[in-house]
Amino acid sequence: MSKQEESLKRIISHCKEYGFIFQSSEIYDGLSAVYDYGHNGIELKKNLREYWWKAMVQMHENIVGIDAAIFMHPKVWKASGHVDGFNDPMIDNKDSKKRYRADQLLEDRIDKYQRDGKTDKAAKLQNDMDEALNNNDLAMLKTLIEEQEIACPISGTRNWTEVRQFNLMYSTQMGSVADDSDEVYLRPETAQGIFVNFLNVQKTGRMKIPFGIAQTGKAFRNEIIARQFIMRMREFEQMEMQFFVRPGTEMEWFDYWKNYRLKWHLNLGIPAEKYRIHEHSKLAHYANAAVDIEYDFPFGFKEVEGIHSRTDFDLKQHQEFSGKKLQYFDPEINQNYVPYVVETSIGLDRLFLLTMFHALVDEEVTNGEKTDTRTVLRIPAVLAPVKLAVFPLVKKDGLPEKAREIIADLKLDYTCQYEEKDAIGKRYRRQDAIGTPFCITVDYETLEDDSVTLRYRDTMEQKRIKISELRAILAEEISWKKILTFEG
Ligand code: ATP
Repeated sequence: MSKQEESLKRIISHCKEYGFIFQSSEIYDGLSAVYDYGHNGIELKKNLREYWWKAMVQMHENIVGIDAAIFMHPKVWKASGHVDGFNDPMIDNKDSKKRYRADQLLEDRIDKYQRDGKTDKAAKLQNDMDEALNNNDLAMLKTLIEEQEIACPISGTRNWTEVRQFNLMYSTQMGSVADDSDEVYLRPETAQGIFVNFLNVQKTGRMKIPFGIAQTGKAFRNEIIARQFIMRMREFEQMEMQFFVRPGTEMEWFDYWKNYRLKWHLNLGIPAEKYRIHEHSKLAHYANAAVDIEYDFPFGFKEVEGIHSRTDFDLKQHQEFSGKKLQYFDPEINQNYVPYVVETSIGLDRLFLLTMFHALVDEEVTNGEKTDTRTVLRIPAVLAPVKLAVFPLVKKDGLPEKAREIIADLKLDYTCQYEEKDAIGKRYRRQDAIGTPFCITVDYETLEDDSVTLRYRDTMEQKRIKISELRAILAEEISWKKILTFEG
């Protein structure tokens, strides 16, 4: 097994063992590229979503949120270009009957050239592939696959079908009678729910340009091949913000959001060299600038977030298809116009995965003569699924009751967990593995003087404190201010 595969396998098994992520419908052998979040996963995911929401909505007085439905009028997807253009080029191997994305087969070859130091070959192939994709030249993609002598990893043969386009949208029927006119789609992105509500929000919120609308929610894509765990799923969650600006000012705002979003990533405590900004050299026809924020996963730098200057394309398309004006009267210049849009779009599941890759570490600990290893999830305290674990030293003599008293006082403000099984050391290890920043132990002394042992996750330092001091310590350490300190 390669190193990359090993590190991904480690994350997958940790996520399962500690209740972060399970394969969907596992007892039926699972459903490909669909995952369920478990009791710890859902807490971490919720906290990551909140980190985004606070940074985008609460920290910007000109950004508000919405929660649009997953189903939308089918014309929305005609207008947005998804019905005609949201395709990936696919190719089948006739012997293994396996399906691949033609561009990914070529990208894997480019990666290989790069790893082998054959940069000229990598650049030429990249160029040829970009040209084929831009011209929608499927025959050329097939020729490139043949020229590169790319074989199917399963059958080992080069017996390929033609390259065809495959639309990634899922469709279903609305109402009880199946009829073409009732066809609706599961949204492949959340952004369109924002565009169609642009005027509703602007008018009811009395928003003045520049302003933004933020949304988090599920999106669905029938990915041809889904791989790398929650990196590429068929049902996933996006966190998107569309920022509406006066035409001509979009590049200023594009820079603002590029910088702001990168700072947001770095404030998770991740070093700058783990990130890379990838500037798109070939832009979509509606965009006038686009970058991806990429993270250095064990399988290479991959996109986690896109920042796009989308011009007035989307609002104009909806204006045309709906026949309704989607304009803004700008009192400062006394003009009506269709605003330009700068979008930030991040996948919550990819953010979850990068957090796991970055924060999950195995480290050596020495205890007197003994050296041991512990697995610890070093995430910022405010993101931890459980903030405080409370252990009675023994299961008798009133210690469990005392521990539960402490929890009862704090549980509405902090997620707490009661643990009485196994030795204290084992309980610490279990909490380390899910990232719990604080553990306290209630012992016989507690019954006499209300003191407890507080143990810190990262330093493993232990100190004796009074129960009455606990709330202030938690408030200081578990605070959004620790990670939400950056300005625009
Ligand atoms: P990719 O090139 O990796 O397919 P994309 O460019 O199609 O991604 P966008 O349409 O820009 O992605 O979507 C914005 C964000 O949504 C991405 O940066 C990514 O974090 C997330 N995302 C997109 N597709 C998936 C997926 N299938 N599974 C999980 N997250 C996804």
